[in-house]
Amino acid sequence: MKKTNMLIIGSGPAGYTAAVYGARAMLNPIVVQGIQPGGQLTITTEVENWPGIKEIQGPDLMTNLEDHAKLAGAKVEPDVINKLDLRQFPFIAHGDGDNIYEAKSVVLATGAQANWLGLESEDKYKGFGVSACATCDGFFFRGQVIAVIGGGNTAVEEALFLTNFATKVILIHRRESLRAEKILQDRLFKNSKIEVKWNCAVKEILGKENPLGVEGLVVEDIKTQKLTTLSCKGVFVAIGHSPSNELVKDQLRTHKGGYVITKNNSTQTSIPGVFAAGDITDFKYRQAVTAAGMGCMAALEAERFISELKK
Ligand code: FAD
Ligand code: NAP
Repeated sequence: MKKTNMLIIGSGPAGYTAAVYGARAMLNPIVVQGIQPGGQLTITTEVENWPGIKEIQGPDLMTNLEDHAKLAGAKVEPDVINKLDLRQFPFIAHGDGDNIYEAKSVVLATGAQANWLGLESEDKYKGFGVSACATCDGFFFRGQVIAVIGGGNTAVEEALFLTNFATKVILIHRRESLRAEKILQDRLFKNSKIEVKWNCAVKEILGKENPLGVEGLVVEDIKTQKLTTLSCKGVFVAIGHSPSNELVKDQLRTHKGGYVITKNNSTQTSIPGVFAAGDITDFKYRQAVTAAGMGCMAALEAERFISELKK
């Protein structure tokens, strides 16, 4: 049994920032990293909007944050929490193997996961031409045509990144304007390797057997219902993210598709002593810097909660 004043579940910007503040408050925090140590930024390339650093690779930024948390005195565990019991106090979390954590406060920083289209053919070719991570899988499609689905920052960044490998990138979006930041849109429209298919919905991913692989897509023009077949070898789905709330969805109040509810201007959830920070609670901003800010708030609030317990 590992006992702590502050158990931080998740090692993205929210988790590591909470760890820095928690350690400096002498709460001896434990950070459980989960299956994606460093979180979502580990699957991107340049980060250009982390204040104070003009440009840094996502994985490097997260290594810096991990080092900072450790230097401050946080313990970082390469473990995954499988069960969290918030109905008893101190709170109990079960990790992989026999690891059990007993905590007087919990900072939930489990972030978000990629959404999928929900097509049967998408499932069939996942890992065989269908991916949600351009930095992980882009290299496999050197010299090929690649399709990217979505119209947000992730889709546009992935489309731009994939031009390093592809002969052509087709961005397929369901509307006729993008949600992505203007600076990214500008780069997209200037890139001659990228073609945008507006008002299009993917109906099916086409492929071959033996070996399993993608050959193309059927898209429907939303306005005319006309179906078109496009040839491509890779399909990158970039249609947003959903909060990773599996541990708490039956214990904490959630809204707007599963985001954990916190009090106004606070990270306090519906259970005292449990705080939520970053993409698990934030349906609005979903940025690294806002996640880090909430991690700071969560640690400060956890410290006050622990101090009250001692009175
Ligand atoms: P995440 O980064 O999602 O981390 C969640 C953590 O929780 C992970 O470490 C995971 O392992 C852990 N976890 C989950 N479940 C468990 C469990 N059961 N047990 C233990 N641990 C668990 N934002 C920007 O500001 N600038 C950018 O340039 C930028 N680029 C992006 C590029 C891409 C491709 C993507 C997908 C996102 C990008 N974002 C960017 C958004 C940014 O990455 C997120 O807003 C931010 O990472 C959220 O941080 P977080 O700490 O809430 O969670
Ligand atoms: P997002 O902003 O939610 O965008 C998702 C996109 O996918 C939208 O264009 C949406 O279309 C489309 N979409 C959603 N469901 C779909 C479906 N079923 N079929 C087809 N298209 C669908 O998600 P994101 O791009 O992953 O970004 C997530 C967060 O991370 C955002 O807050 C973003 O700012 C942040 N982020 C930041 C950076 C950066 O700062 N450089 C980089 C990446 C991500 P509609 O537009 O029609 O809704």
